[in-house]
Amino acid sequence: MVTRPMPSSSVIDPRPGDDENWYREDPPLQQLLALHVDEATLGAAEHRLDDLGELAPADLDRWAREADRHEPTLERRSPTGERVDRVDFHPAYENLRLAARINGVFTASWHEMGEAERAPRALTFALGYLYAQAEAGYYCPACMTDGAAFVLDRHAPEPLAERFVPRLVSRDPDEGIEGAMYLTEKEGGSDVGASTRTRARQAEDGTWRLTGEKWFASNCTAEVAMALARMPDGEEGTEGLGLFLVPRHLSNGSPNPGLHLERLKDKLGVQSMPTGEIVLDEAHAHLVQGAGSGFKAMAEMVNLSRLYNAVASVAVARRALREGQRAGRQRETFGQPLHEHALFLRDLVELTVDVEGGLAFTLDQAEVFDRWAEGEEDARAPLRILTPCAKAMTAKLGVAAASEGCELLGGQGYIEEYVTPRLLRDAQVLPIWEGTTNIQALDLLRAVARDRALPGFLAHSSARLAEAEAEGHEGLEPAIARVREGYERIEQAGERLASVDRDTAEAMAIDLTRDAYHVHAAALLARRAAHHPDDDRAREVAHLYAARHVAEDRSLGRRAVRQALADHGTEIAYPATSHS
Ligand SMILES: Cc1cc2nc3c(=O)[nH]c(=O)nc-3n(C[C@H](O)[C@H](O)[C@H](O)COP(=O)(O)OP(=O)(O)OC[C@H]3O[C@@H](n4cnc5c(N)ncnc54)[C@H](O)[C@@H]3O)c2cc1C
Repeated sequence: MVTRPMPSSSVIDPRPGDDENWYREDPPLQQLLALHVDEATLGAAEHRLDDLGELAPADLDRWAREADRHEPTLERRSPTGERVDRVDFHPAYENLRLAARINGVFTASWHEMGEAERAPRALTFALGYLYAQAEAGYYCPACMTDGAAFVLDRHAPEPLAERFVPRLVSRDPDEGIEGAMYLTEKEGGSDVGASTRTRARQAEDGTWRLTGEKWFASNCTAEVAMALARMPDGEEGTEGLGLFLVPRHLSNGSPNPGLHLERLKDKLGVQSMPTGEIVLDEAHAHLVQGAGSGFKAMAEMVNLSRLYNAVASVAVARRALREGQRAGRQRETFGQPLHEHALFLRDLVELTVDVEGGLAFTLDQAEVFDRWAEGEEDARAPLRILTPCAKAMTAKLGVAAASEGCELLGGQGYIEEYVTPRLLRDAQVLPIWEGTTNIQALDLLRAVARDRALPGFLAHSSARLAEAEAEGHEGLEPAIARVREGYERIEQAGERLASVDRDTAEAMAIDLTRDAYHVHAAALLARRAAHHPDDDRAREVAHLYAARHVAEDRSLGRRAVRQALADHGTEIAYPATSHS
């Protein structure tokens, strides 16, 4: 049954409805998640998804609005002049912090779920997707806490991992601690090998001290910060860097004497969460990995962060769409509800298709990430390509969607009573941190030219598409054919990259990033549609995605959208829910 838009009123209500549940009302999320999580595990997790689906539009959204309005403040000295570097948070932020930990937003992958020893990351990211639609700010500390635990678990000496990992991933707020990442210095965040001036020194008792400045540190009050520093006599570039854990407190409970918080950044968005400037002055630190392997270990944390970033980006886009859907139902112009105007409906349809493509991509990447983390060799190459593609493309989607969300609400969408201005402010950091879009394209170039990852990626994507073909692909033929053409194009681009000069290859890299992203997203949507042969909507979304983003002939996409609007516009923009 199709959910019919509700009667419209004159002013759009900025508040989510009392009975909203962002999980239950999202059949595309449910369908896509079921492709990556087995039935028993999903069954065991259903109540968590349902609870968070209810909490997000209610308490989380309210706390997020309050925390955004009341930024954290830094108290550097006590009334008697001692250095304290204390950050005060609004109670709403403390609630957001608590809710993320106990609801599994970053902890689920560390605990059993039904029969599974650990929840698959696709599930954790589905929880994150619900959470980040309400609050993007705390999703950053959530990401870095999981990331610090992930790297320590894999690379730290056992006693160090045993001391910190259980507390990082604990679901108990009383024992939980958080993580941060000290990477960027004044000289830059993109070229870490050249710009890391922070130096490591080993004291006579064998312990380590770090000295330097870290120019951007989000969640700067975290108990655990993962920091890069040049090793004594460390060579130039990334090879000479070691990875350290900088604790906020020493094991006797006293503050780390060489760790100072100089200033909080005055930011455009993600204002609930503090980003600071850190000075390390002989700060105590624990060595995790030394020269040669320190940067590689840190890269694993960065790559997980890029996946989190993709989740946040698609979540922001989903929230913008949600606001547009609400406006479509509630607002009337020229004598009819907005959603009945063809152009407005077209905006919603295009955004819907892009959000579902982004979500399909991100959940698939999460599954490949798990396989890679478990040591499956054939997951390495696809992940090398999926990670920069997802980071680059979903972040751009997040910003574009957040901007569109403002416009869909008209003048109201520009007013801070509505969530749309905050979405736009929060979204703008997504293409910047964790490496800008150009840096992702350069990473893709390395993955193709140096790591020869393209064949592995194409094999992975083709296997997903083959599933679509095997499941019965009636009506999906055009989408499947376009994806196959896309694979040929990607293969040819990969070959060309190997034969052109460096500048040309760099300039081409962004095109390949876009193409690989869209082609794979289209394959995944075709696969989803094939698993739901009776779902015309899923088939139409797959068709539209391939026509708009994969077909080389741009007019095909435009024609497909016009046709879809006439046939299924409302069903695409307002998917039927099981309880409607
Ligand atoms: C709110 C916020 C929070 C942050 N939190 C953290 C944190 O917790 N920890 C941390 O370590 N860092 C953090 N950062 C830093 C962030 O990761 C960096 O700012 C980001 O990676 C970009 O690096 P940069 O600022 O040095 O820009 P630059 O490297 O100077 O880049 C400037 C521009 O040049 C382009 N560019 C650079 N090199 C090339 C090239 N070779 N080819 C083409 N174009 C190029 C970039 O795409 C960009 O457009 C944060 C940043 C922000 C804004």
